[in-house]
Amino acid sequence: MTTTAPRPQTAASAGGAAREPLEQVRRLVTEVPGPRSRALQERRLAVVSKGVGSTLPVFVERAEGAVLRDVDGNQLIDLGAGIAVVNVGHAQPRVVERVQEQVADFTHTCFMVTPYEEYVAVCEALVRLAPVDGPAKAALFNTGSEAVENAVKIARHATGRDAVVVFDHAYHGRTNLTMAMTAKAMPYKSGFGPFAGEVYRAPMSYPFRDPQGMTGEQAAQRAVRVIEAQVGADQVACVVIEPVQGEGGFIEPAPGFLPALAAWCRENGALFVADEVQTGFARTGDVFACEREGVRPDLVTLAKGVAGGLPLAGVVGRADAMDAVHSGGLGGTYGGNPVACAAALGALEAMADLDLTGAARAVEERMTARLRALQAQRPGIGDVRGRGAMLAVEVVTTEDDGEGGRRATLEPDAAGAAAISAACHAAGVVTLTCGTFGNVLRFLPPLTIEQALLDDALDVLEAAVLSALAG
Ligand SMILES: *Cc1c(COP(=O)(O)O)cnc(C)c1O
Repeated sequence: MTTTAPRPQTAASAGGAAREPLEQVRRLVTEVPGPRSRALQERRLAVVSKGVGSTLPVFVERAEGAVLRDVDGNQLIDLGAGIAVVNVGHAQPRVVERVQEQVADFTHTCFMVTPYEEYVAVCEALVRLAPVDGPAKAALFNTGSEAVENAVKIARHATGRDAVVVFDHAYHGRTNLTMAMTAKAMPYKSGFGPFAGEVYRAPMSYPFRDPQGMTGEQAAQRAVRVIEAQVGADQVACVVIEPVQGEGGFIEPAPGFLPALAAWCRENGALFVADEVQTGFARTGDVFACEREGVRPDLVTLAKGVAGGLPLAGVVGRADAMDAVHSGGLGGTYGGNPVACAAALGALEAMADLDLTGAARAVEERMTARLRALQAQRPGIGDVRGRGAMLAVEVVTTEDDGEGGRRATLEPDAAGAAAISAACHAAGVVTLTCGTFGNVLRFLPPLTIEQALLDDALDVLEAAVLSALAG
C-alpha cells in the first residue's frame, strides 16, 4: 500500500483496458498550470529537492504523439519531446508493445552477470547505423553523461593519453567528469567543483557570433591553434564535440569545421568523439548529425532519442578502440537494461518504418519558413538556425538602424526569450530555452508531429513573439 492520495479515475488510469486515442489537438480547460497541477506542485515542493527544477510545473497524466494531457485535462503541444527523447512520439505503439512484453518476461538480470539477446540486438542495430569506418562495436549504459564518461575511458585506453578537448558552449552532462566538460557555470557547475582534470576548452565555430565570413576551416584552425599551444597534439586522447550543440544554444558550426577537426584528430592520433546524445536518431534529418558532412567519428555517444523514453545510452565506435579496454573495465548494474533495450528495438523500428529522417526534414522546412517570416517582422530574432526538428531562434536586443527601423545587435536578450516562452506555456505550447546566455528558444517536437498540430503551435509562437518583442 502507498500513502499517496488515490488517483482520479480517468481513461489514463484505467490500466490495461482499451483506451481512447489522445486526440492530437491543443485544448485548454483551465489556466496553465491548473488547480490540480498547483496542488501537486505544493506537495512536490514539500518533499522534492529544490535543486531539481521544472520548466513548466504542469503535471502530466498521459501523453501520446505530440500531445501532453495534464491532470486538469488540458492538452498541451509538446515542442520539447522530453528534451529530444521521444523522437518517435509519446506512447509510440511499437515501443509500448515491446516494453509490455519484456516487462512480463523479465526486467533485469544484469548483462555483466547473465546476458540476454535484447542487448546484443540493440548493439547490432547501433553498429549497423553508426557512421563509423570499418568494423564497429558498442556498449550500453543508462544516461548520456555515462555514455560520455565511457567514451573518455575508452579513448584513454585506446590512445594511452589523458587530455580531453571540448568546446565553448558545450554540454556533456552533470556527473563530475562531464560537468568539467560542460561549459556553462549556471546552473550546471556553480559550486560543484573541484572538477575532473585534463579537460581543455577550445573555441567553437559559432557563425552568428564569429567574425563575418569566417569559414569552418578557419574556425577549426583557431581551435587547433589553442589545442596545440595549450595542450600539445601528442597529449590529446580525444576531441569531444556535439555536431550541433544542444544546451549551449543549438549552435550549428560552419560547414567544414567538423571535417577539419576530424582530420586533425586522424593526423595526430587522437580520437574524434561525436556526442550525438541530443542530435541522434533522426532528430536533425539524418540518423546521426555528423553524417551531413560525411564525418566519420571514431566514437559516437548516444542516449536521449534511442529508446522512445526509456533510459538507455551507449557508445558505438571503431572496434579496435572499443576493444582496447580490459574485460570488466566497462559496464554498470543497469547498463543495457532489457526493458530499455526492448524499447530501443521498437523505437529503431519506428524510426525506419515511419521515415523519421524525412519527417524531421519536413518539420525543418515548415518551421524555418515561419520562423524566418517572423524574423522579418521582429529584428529581435537575431538568428534562426538548426537542422531537422532541432531548431532555434536566438533573441537579441535591437538598435536604431539609422533608416527609421531597428536592427539586431549581438547583445543577448534572455528576458525576451523568457517572455516568449512564458506566453507559449500559458497558451498550451511547451517550449524550452537554452544557450550560454539563456536567450535561445529551442524547438524539439516529436518527429511524428502532425502538420496541423505543428501549425497551431507556430500560430501560438507567432503571437507570443509579436507581443513580446518590439517591431
Ligand atoms: C543531455 C545530454 C547529455 C547528458 O545526458 P543525460 O542523459 O542527461 O546524462 C550529454 N550530451 C549531450 C549532447 C546532451 O544533450
